[in-house]
Amino acid sequence: MTGRPGRVGKSGSQASAGDLLELVRSGRAVTRGALQQATGLSRATVGQRLDRLFRAGWLREGAGGPVDSPLGGRPSITLEFDDSHAVVLAADLDTRHARAAVLTLTGEILAEHAGTLAVEEGPDAVLGELGHWFAELLTKAGHRAEEVCGIGLAVPGPVDSETGRVVQPPIMPGWDGYDVRGRLSRALTEHTGAPAVPVLVDNDANLMAYGEQRTGHPDCTAFVLVKVSTGIGAGVVVGGSIYRGVDGGAGDIGHIRVGAEALCRCGSYGCLAAVASGGAVARRLAASGVPAASGSDVRDLLAAGHPEAAALAREAGRQVGDVLATVVTLLNPGVLMIAGDLAGTPFLTGVRELLYQRALPRSTAHLDVVTSRLGERAGLIGAGALVVEHLYAPDRAEQRLSEMGV
Ligand SMILES: [Zn+2]
Repeated sequence: MTGRPGRVGKSGSQASAGDLLELVRSGRAVTRGALQQATGLSRATVGQRLDRLFRAGWLREGAGGPVDSPLGGRPSITLEFDDSHAVVLAADLDTRHARAAVLTLTGEILAEHAGTLAVEEGPDAVLGELGHWFAELLTKAGHRAEEVCGIGLAVPGPVDSETGRVVQPPIMPGWDGYDVRGRLSRALTEHTGAPAVPVLVDNDANLMAYGEQRTGHPDCTAFVLVKVSTGIGAGVVVGGSIYRGVDGGAGDIGHIRVGAEALCRCGSYGCLAAVASGGAVARRLAASGVPAASGSDVRDLLAAGHPEAAALAREAGRQVGDVLATVVTLLNPGVLMIAGDLAGTPFLTGVRELLYQRALPRSTAHLDVVTSRLGERAGLIGAGALVVEHLYAPDRAEQRLSEMGV
């Protein structure tokens, strides 16, 4: 988001081809006239910069036909991002299963696979297997590996987004500090022969929040998503960007101590995740003779209207709601989205009960507490979007155009 010193930003007279692309992609200026007006560039300079984008295959004339020009005169042809020149790969790792997809640059899923893949197998085996999945998905989608412009990966742990490495993950043994980017890029090459591509890694709740905010709540400037499955984690999107904190640890609310005795998967006692996650509810159900071993079993029981599962989910919601009262008071979000295995009416009822009781009225006056819209695809959509935003951000786009020689 920050410009280099001495360089005029998006609306300045030095606007680059990358800046023009950004204006078109965001919908802020989609005709030559509107681009002139937004940047102050001459008609000739806008034309030259657009030519580079056309030659790269990144821009095309819109199918909608001419629209009235803001500068008056003849109606103008609209321009749009040409999303057919490349595809993105994305994967979302949960503790025991994973989901992977080929996506268009505008976030449409072209081919998808979900299956068992346990993070405890370690990064080498897991990322190697993802390379295999990607190769099969590309074949299924009818795209060549050379068309892949990047890979986005969601993992269930804190990530240093500068290096793409997982940082002291509570539930990912063997992943701490591992070179995830290098291994995943290599795995794709091993299975497809494709050249190395950029890999972006982020926390799963962050990417779910990013995917949901962009597609369903684009005008919400402070958005919080809480994922409640085997564990509990939160993603925060502020001003359209993921808020990660200084160490990538922002939103890791599952290991806040809430004072209970239960042993957490992280090795500590009394974590929120140990008492109020899908896994915790499953253990309580199992202890009373209901067959449930995981958050997804609880999800199935909730969907079937199982009364004991519903009562425990509501109680879990109250415990999470108590912690979320602090989150909401600190961040004053417009949307608080509950996602994951427990996301449903009983859990939401519990969250609302404690949240509105404990948080200050001013911080909840304009708050919508909602459930996930994208469901299990939120992480994939967010991971794909992160790659696209990275590769087509103005400075990066400009650099890539130069590397392509256009
Ligand atoms: Zn813990």
